[in-house]
Amino acid sequence: MYYFDHSATTPVHPDVLDLMHSIQKDVYGNPSSIHSQGRKALSLIETARKKVAKAIGTIPNKIIFTSGGTEANNQVFWSLLNQNNIHVISDTIEHPAVLKVLSEMESHGLDYNLVNVNKNGQISIADIESVIQKNTRLISIMLANNEIGTIQPIKEIVALAHKKNILVHSDAVQCLGKMPLDVNDLGVDYLSLSAHKFYGPKGIGILYFKNKDSLSSLMIGGGQEKGLRAGTENIAYIAGMGLAAELATSNLGHHIQELEDIEHQFKIGLNSFFPNAVFNGDSENKLPGLVSVSFPGHRSDILLVKLDRANMAVSSGSACGSGNIKPSEILSAMGIDDETNICTLRISFGTSNTAEQVDLLLAELKRILAN
Ligand code: PLP
Repeated sequence: MYYFDHSATTPVHPDVLDLMHSIQKDVYGNPSSIHSQGRKALSLIETARKKVAKAIGTIPNKIIFTSGGTEANNQVFWSLLNQNNIHVISDTIEHPAVLKVLSEMESHGLDYNLVNVNKNGQISIADIESVIQKNTRLISIMLANNEIGTIQPIKEIVALAHKKNILVHSDAVQCLGKMPLDVNDLGVDYLSLSAHKFYGPKGIGILYFKNKDSLSSLMIGGGQEKGLRAGTENIAYIAGMGLAAELATSNLGHHIQELEDIEHQFKIGLNSFFPNAVFNGDSENKLPGLVSVSFPGHRSDILLVKLDRANMAVSSGSACGSGNIKPSEILSAMGIDDETNICTLRISFGTSNTAEQVDLLLAELKRILAN
């Protein structure tokens, strides 16, 4: 299988797999136990916490482990219900782990506005400013989008928000290992990450917070994770995520360059035989290696299946279900018409992809698009 779907998930790094296997085999103590097996487990968790904290430029006691990006986002939002009469600002191209949570919370009394994006998927600071209310407590804007890769001006959003005593959350699930990520530099109050997007295991993630007092726990029980996430810790996954975070951020410049080169090769190659291809999103402010491309006249569900038959995994920019292809809400929010929308693929490159693989993908696309 040639895998070009790294924004959906990444294969686990072999060193991470080895570490997790050895922990599953040898470390069975409960990290809350005080005997040596328990202490061994705890020490693995705390080592991972240090590695993850270092990867995002913070200190270990500013992060807790969650089951992934979805849970980290949920925790930030549901914690708001500790207060009355709350208004939140987000945007129309967030992941459902933000948009559906906000919609659900409306029935619990939360009020919110979603700002729109321009044709490149960029949010404007002026649009955010225009919907700030007296009771706005949180602005939640993703650092980079999962379908088009557009990077948002988080630092500027933080500067505006903090002037008005508003907290800022950013879903950075797509970002670790693809761009420098420093929570102090960004200035955010909360940040969500997920290990399976950076060659770690699925089902484990991180919530960074500047101030613990503003959060409450979704899980009530044994008081683990500073009382913010009860439940016995998944030691192997946490340790695996720690190593994955370390690996993803060492040699970052080199990795970014590799992804940029592959993306460039793909775009130039595709243009040479299919000049009608439309590349969506911002061509400058974007994650490297993530390409959203529309093939006018060629439905994405059909392209996807044909590529799959050639053992090539890509993703459709639109959600397919029960034979009916639905336009992607993200592309629609950017003003892309339905006809183009349903002809869009997301191709996301990663560490295992080579220039030869990109040539094979191009050759296959050339063959498919000619028929
Ligand atoms: N946020 C974004 C931007 C994502 O791309 C994803 C996963 O696709 C999530 C949140 C959800 O993360 P998880 O799968 O760890 O729950």
